[in-house]
Amino acid sequence: MSQRPTRIVVDLDALSHNLQVIHAHVQVPVMAIVKANAYGHGLVRVAHHLQAQGVTQFGVAFAEEALTLRRAGISLPILVLGGILGRQVGQLIQHDLEITVSSLDKLRKVEAAAERLQRKAVIHLKIDTGMERIGVHSYSCAAFIEAAVASTWCVLKGVYSHLACADDPHSPKTAQQLERFLQACAHFERIGAPMPIRHLANSGGVLHFPETWLDMVRPGIMLYGVLPDPAAYRSVDIRPALSLLSQVVYFKVVKAGSSVSYGATWAPAQDTHVVTVPIGYGDGYPRALSNRGQVLIRGQLHPIVGRLCMDQFMVDLGPHGSAYVEDDVVLIGPQGEQILTVEDVAAWADTIGYEILTRFNERIPREYVGGPNIR
Ligand SMILES: *Cc1c(COP(=O)(O)O)cnc(C)c1O
Repeated sequence: MSQRPTRIVVDLDALSHNLQVIHAHVQVPVMAIVKANAYGHGLVRVAHHLQAQGVTQFGVAFAEEALTLRRAGISLPILVLGGILGRQVGQLIQHDLEITVSSLDKLRKVEAAAERLQRKAVIHLKIDTGMERIGVHSYSCAAFIEAAVASTWCVLKGVYSHLACADDPHSPKTAQQLERFLQACAHFERIGAPMPIRHLANSGGVLHFPETWLDMVRPGIMLYGVLPDPAAYRSVDIRPALSLLSQVVYFKVVKAGSSVSYGATWAPAQDTHVVTVPIGYGDGYPRALSNRGQVLIRGQLHPIVGRLCMDQFMVDLGPHGSAYVEDDVVLIGPQGEQILTVEDVAAWADTIGYEILTRFNERIPREYVGGPNIR
């Protein structure tokens, strides 16, 4: 057990709840997206928990993430969503990982590797309908689809695309992308080939665009109880799973005019009570919160003052505020009547919840509550 006072606590029951309400909402299978250390929640532990809760398969960004899951004993199908290079293909096939095929050239590389290994490769075709990231453009995908259908060494399991603006419930771009995707899929019918599993919806699609749910959905951030955008609709009753906690390690009185931290960017106008909290940007807590963020101590919000350091930062309790060493500090999560959300922290740091969650690094120990006792 780590003795570090700073820790991330993940509520596994919140993850189960989120998966359950997503299932009830969409009524199609769920590919749980667990890339980037399960959005900071801990890849292996989260995947084991979700595997037991009825997800249909996992999606990760990189081959390494998928291999980590396989080594940890995850047996469900895992799709590697990102673009791959030829040299990675053999390893993916050997570990039974599903491969995103995003061009004709990559299809040829996968076929060659599968033939060399005498082992079929399970693939999902990536169609670009307006993200311009990876994938074959929907307006020129006919030959690509035909080649994949004709392939001897590839098992064509899925066809998918990615939505660029689904976090905005009013964006007209989503309908356009859906239309392009369905047109691309129509080519399977045109050539008399069976339709692979069609998947398109990320969290924004799940929340805002039922037409995009198709045969499977790919929620990431909402599984963890965080909305993709502050303006997204809370159409599914998700609960945040992650809390970020620490403890006061130091208390002092700072005299009027005495500056706090590097660069002397803040000094109190009158004598005030200041505490030090042992977490900093070296943990992935954003330096942009300097003189902007807030934390909860004894049920009250208090501002971060001065520049946030690599390993610690200071909080002003005011001239009459009191706190003791070892008092709990909540950086994300509830305390008393108050709650600090990932969305709050993201707004102060001028970024998105995704970045806040995925920045937290391995220096912060993770603890798990809820769920079954054994792992
Ligand atoms: C990350 C990702 C998702 C999940 O996105 P969220 O907005 O977190 O739901 C789905 N599909 C692909 C291809 C992704 O890269």
